[in-house]
Amino acid sequence: MSAPLPPWLDPVRQQVAAALREGRLNHALLIAGEPGLGKRLLVDALAARLLCQAPREDTACGRCRACIWFGAGTHPDFVRIGPEPDSAVIKVAQVRALIARTQLTGQAGPIRVAVVDPADAMNAAAQNALLKTLEEPPDGVHLLLVADAPMRLLATVRSRTQAYAVIAPDAGQARAWLAAGAQDGGERQAIDRGLALAAGHPGAALAYAQPERSAAALAVAEDLRRLALGQAQATDVAGRWGGNPQNCIDDAIAWLRLWSWRDAGPGIAGAGPAPALPLLRLTAAAAAALRVRERLRAPLKPSWLLLEWLQDWQGAAR
Ligand SMILES: [Zn+2]
Repeated sequence: MSAPLPPWLDPVRQQVAAALREGRLNHALLIAGEPGLGKRLLVDALAARLLCQAPREDTACGRCRACIWFGAGTHPDFVRIGPEPDSAVIKVAQVRALIARTQLTGQAGPIRVAVVDPADAMNAAAQNALLKTLEEPPDGVHLLLVADAPMRLLATVRSRTQAYAVIAPDAGQARAWLAAGAQDGGERQAIDRGLALAAGHPGAALAYAQPERSAAALAVAEDLRRLALGQAQATDVAGRWGGNPQNCIDDAIAWLRLWSWRDAGPGIAGAGPAPALPLLRLTAAAAAALRVRERLRAPLKPSWLLLEWLQDWQGAAR
């Protein structure tokens, strides 16, 4: 048996299991939900269940040949695609290769599973290439599409899938799950800060609880505060953030959201107070940062985008 899924993933797992049991599972599923909720864990559990040769009730047995292959990452009838290391998008050639794989006869049995993760990283050509397979998949093929932002998919793609939404747990559920793995008070404080930054999303909170990520997020808060006080230069900050623009803008958004919720209050565990700015300025800066995050997905010069936003933020503080 594999490790139990976090409790907030279980409703979707059960819905899919029920559809499978009742013979109404679509061959193409769209697993949607905000980042950081563990959708990949869920998809792995679903794929394992579909491929397992001796499933027990709703879960993979963990012991059959298919489960052992799957656990080792060597199942011959399982394929997963995502963006290649040098790219933010899934290209049409990758989708064509995936389709070719699904057209082969299964080597371990009749079931083949193909995962596109994140499906919303497919460019339009790649999505169009997948349409026909979504419409008329070969027998025994299950396509699992994972998406943070399903609205980025073509409507024609969405309409050919059965959609399941992963819902974020409430803060108490997330804290209980994360705190179960905490070793000491310092780790629990990091989890609390991470949960605050991650707006309660447990996967993102766990990432924020890692020492390196936690330090980087605190540095972003410090940059924003010093810019607002006129103690830093936007060009210097943009240069620093340029090394990891996605994380930095995500962190900036998280801080702005927190600051706009909590006013200038005592600050978040170990992170100092919020800059004293009107609420409207904070929310406008957060909205602009969200647009920057969206534009960072395209292969432009990230430091230009960041510089533009950082100068606006500095201007807003005057
Ligand atoms: Zn099995």
